[in-house]
This record gives sequence, structure tokens and C-alpha cells, in this order.
Amino acid sequence: MLDIKITHADHLKPHPDPDTLVFGKTFTDHMFLMDYHTGQGWHDPRVVPYAPLPFELSCMVFHYAQEIFEGMKAYRTPDGKVQLFRPYENAKRMASSCLRMCIPEIPEDDFVQAVKAVVEADRAWVPNKVGTSLYIRPFIIATDNGLGVHASHSYLFAVICCPVGAYYPEGIDPVKIYVEDEDVRAVKGGTGFTKCGGNYAASIRAGERAEGQGFSQVLWLDGVHRKYIEEVGSMNVMFKIGGTVVTPELSGSVLPGITRKSCLELIRSWGIPVEERRISVQELFDAAQAGTLEEAWGTGTAAVVSPIGLLAWEDRKVEVSGGGIGALTQKLYDTLTGIQWGTQPDPYGWTLPIE
Ligand SMILES: *Cc1c(COP(=O)(O)O)cnc(C)c1O
Repeated sequence: MLDIKITHADHLKPHPDPDTLVFGKTFTDHMFLMDYHTGQGWHDPRVVPYAPLPFELSCMVFHYAQEIFEGMKAYRTPDGKVQLFRPYENAKRMASSCLRMCIPEIPEDDFVQAVKAVVEADRAWVPNKVGTSLYIRPFIIATDNGLGVHASHSYLFAVICCPVGAYYPEGIDPVKIYVEDEDVRAVKGGTGFTKCGGNYAASIRAGERAEGQGFSQVLWLDGVHRKYIEEVGSMNVMFKIGGTVVTPELSGSVLPGITRKSCLELIRSWGIPVEERRISVQELFDAAQAGTLEEAWGTGTAAVVSPIGLLAWEDRKVEVSGGGIGALTQKLYDTLTGIQWGTQPDPYGWTLPIE
């Protein structure tokens, strides 16, 4: 158990209009901080007013990107309560990111306690309009000053929060995807399975190029063969082919999404066969041509599920589900959002209430 010191903000900010919220721009009144120093371990857990912090420009994180993050949400239920979705999964994934990046781990219970403490302090910020939520960003940065390349001896763990509007205010809109055949996001042995800022830095160029050509995201291929599908933008990806759900296996370069895991558990519980395996972009386009590619969608905390309506690869284009949303994609969306926002029972024990 952390002994968290709480300092409430004197001046509370006005809450933004949930209809015009821009993702990740407005932050709540408080944040959680905890420091690490070699020899001392993690210490001084505290909730304090949200405010900028001073850093020397030699701070390690600015140069060598020794940093990791998580992404999760708090949801307002119809009876006004606030709940988290599978927060221990985020805690586990953060610990695995820590191991890869030589960052000292935070015990799972401490991670969840920290998230709960800041959400509790800012519970009035969890919006109650349909589809809205409080996005939570836990992260750890290396804070040693100096330009030597080595593991830092000091770190800062922080949790900041921002209210987010409905991802689909006008109904679910299928996305257009472009198969990226030049840049790669990650390779086995690298950091693809961790949530680290470096992965995102490497992915920005492809995303910009795709947007410039009228696509919403790119489909990432593996870095070795440039053949096998890995992810879509910053989401995991799934396909329904001839009645079976196929998704890339967690091979080391794919991020183990919590939405991915939850979708696979639901799909299996509905008796639909699932294959976690390598799938080439050739196999996908062959299936599309043969008429057996029934549905395609991305999964992630932000959108929950994001149906893919069009896929473009070199000079080929295929429409999926007639450019609309498939029945299984819709069922996954309805079931997961129902559990997250508490409008449906949670038979799996996935939600954790904030007292
Ligand atoms: C965060 C993330 C996902 C989705 O993970 P969730 O836990 O479902 O939100 C997928 N791919 C990448 C690259 C990510 O960073």
C-alpha cells in the first residue's frame, strides 16, 4: 500500500463542454507523482495540483527516450458511479514495458492505487454524456541529468488525466487504410511490445503520409519479411475470414492490447473460432478477392473497435463489409462499451469501481 499524500488544488478549473472536447488538450485539476532514486526505490507518492514541472535540458528522457506510458479510461455509469476497465492489465503491461526499458517496475497494486487516487481527486471531471470518458495517462520518464548513455538512476512516475468526447459522435465511421510498405514500426527484439514513446516517434512519418493521401491510418507489416500484418495505426487488427477470426500473434513486435485481449475472450465465449497466427497481406487480399474477407477492424482503448471499410495495397484497393460495419464488429463494440459504461452486466469482472 502506498501512503499517498493528497494536496488539493485551491482553484478548480471550469470543465470544458463535452461536445467540443479535443482529445488530449484539457487536463484535470490534479496529477499523481512519485519519484525513484537508486538506493531509495519509489518514494513520495502524492496527488498534487496539475502544474508544469521544471527540468534541465540535459534530462535523459529528452535525449535517449527512456520512457514508457499507458493509456486507459475511467467511465461514468448511468447511476453516476465511476469505474475503470481492467486496470490490472495496464499495471502488468507497464511492468513488462519497464523490464524492456531498464526502468524500475512499480508493483501492480501500487499502480492501480495511484490511478484510483488521482481519478478520485478528479472524479467530477469524468463526463457523463454518452460515449465520453476520462482518459488516463500514466507514464514514467528517466530524470537523470547528463548525456551519458546508460540507465538512469532517477525516474518520475506521473498520472495525468483529460476528459475526452465521444469517439463516434455521429455513429461509427469505417476507416480507410493504406498498407505501409516502406517504414516499419517495430521488429522482434526491439520495443514493439512495449508502450514507449520511441515506437510512436518512428511511426509518425507513415501516418502523415497516409493522411496526406486521404487515408486515416496505415497497416503495418513486419520489419523482416515486409509481408506479415502486425497492427493498424496504433491499434491491434483483426479480420473475419470465412467465419474465423484471424489476428496477428503476439510475436514481440506487436503491442499486447487490452482491447485485443478482451475482444478475443468475447469472441471465443461466443463460440466463434479464433486463430492467433501470422497472416500475410497477400493472404488478406486473396481472401478479399475470393469473397471470404467478411470483416476487418482495429482495437484499442480510444476507439474500442474501429471498422475498416477500405484497404489499399500498392495499386490494389478492396472494400470490406461493403464499406460499412460488420455484424461481429458491431457486437464487439456494443458489448465492450456496454460493460465499460455500465449499461450492461459485467460477467467477467472486468470493471473496478472507484469508491
Ligand atoms: C496502446 C496500443 C494498442 C492498443 O492497446 P489497448 O490496451 O487495447 O488500448 C495497440 N497498438 C499500439 C501500438 C498501442 O500503442
